[in-house]
Amino acid sequence: MQTGIAHRVGDRIELPGLATAHSHAFQRALRGRTERKATKANNFWSWRGLMYGLANALDPETLYDISHFAFVELAMSGVTAVGEFHYVQHQPGGQPYDDRTLLAETVVRAARDAGLRIVLLRVGYQRAGAGKAALAEQMRFCDASADAVLKDALEVRKRFRNDPLVSVGLAPHSVRAVPRSWIEDLSRAAKHEKMPFSMHVAEQRLEIEECLHEYGKRPVHLLADDGVIDERFVAVHATHLMPDEAKILGHARAFACLCRTTERDLGDGVSVAGALVVEGARLCTGIDSYSITDPFEEARSIELDARIHREARHVAADAPALMEAMSKNGYAALGLSGLETRDKVTLDANDASLAGADEALLDDAVIFGATPRAIREVSVEGRTIVENGLHIGYDKARIGYERSLKKILAAL
Ligand SMILES: [Zn+2]
Repeated sequence: MQTGIAHRVGDRIELPGLATAHSHAFQRALRGRTERKATKANNFWSWRGLMYGLANALDPETLYDISHFAFVELAMSGVTAVGEFHYVQHQPGGQPYDDRTLLAETVVRAARDAGLRIVLLRVGYQRAGAGKAALAEQMRFCDASADAVLKDALEVRKRFRNDPLVSVGLAPHSVRAVPRSWIEDLSRAAKHEKMPFSMHVAEQRLEIEECLHEYGKRPVHLLADDGVIDERFVAVHATHLMPDEAKILGHARAFACLCRTTERDLGDGVSVAGALVVEGARLCTGIDSYSITDPFEEARSIELDARIHREARHVAADAPALMEAMSKNGYAALGLSGLETRDKVTLDANDASLAGADEALLDDAVIFGATPRAIREVSVEGRTIVENGLHIGYDKARIGYERSLKKILAAL
């Protein structure tokens, strides 16, 4: 008997659409390039310096090619909806392009050309930290006011109003990168405009120390006191939380978007996924930095990392809950509630990673065993974008990516 979300149909296993609720597509270009000591990326902050170098080398063409290929790989891995946390807005140095929303639209176009649903999470960024002006390499992320952020978001939404697979959300970068008033203003605007609302929260210990120093409160307490945490709030990472902070997110039915492969890659820390689940927070997942692109690994890592930490099994979430995190909750976090049923991912039940799966435990077989190699067809809103494991535009996307990569690496 079949019981879970995954269903067997002949020699296929069918899943609803899968979402990655947090993505920085351009970071795909860093994959495999920061893993040696010689790169001096020995912690999050020094890795960030290399990432800033890449962010400042991008132009509209290279941003398109890199993002497009990242999205093509996402589709081939079974992802149908992406929340792009977009913060490279302006020219290097901070001067806006003549068309202010050029880069946001470039990223949207890259996703749509790959056939994905996209929610462009327009980021607000203003400073390097409490009382610290933005660094030169952060200038192209920055705006003069929260109002400018909102105006750009509304402009992008207007320009894509005829494409039902494009929507727009608001995303103050973090308590570190914007002042408190921006978070309140953008949160209010997101409610008013019925947009998804997303923030990096407690990814690194230093962010918490700085928040305590600036406001006398930890990030989740600050956001709760300012009325920002509700059922539309997406806390990205939510790594370093005290028990009462998990409770605040849970009682609000907020989302916690865990990005375990990136959090592991960057040495962010151990997640408190188990506490978040117990308190009622809704988990979702994010490919984030594209250190690898594997939504099944992203989901299973929530449980497996918790097992290492607790030295026990069955700690945070079982396979049906993780399947829900990837599909239903991921879509809901992006303001796309229910649309996961309009998209479809099919896997080859005879793939070596799935062969012999127990019919009653298909969710378990997929979450804990499948690799993207098993993906056969992917369709979004009835349009097939992956056939027999290959994206319909794979070669063209790869050639564009390699061309732009060469250009970028020469400029670094
Ligand atoms: Zn991020």
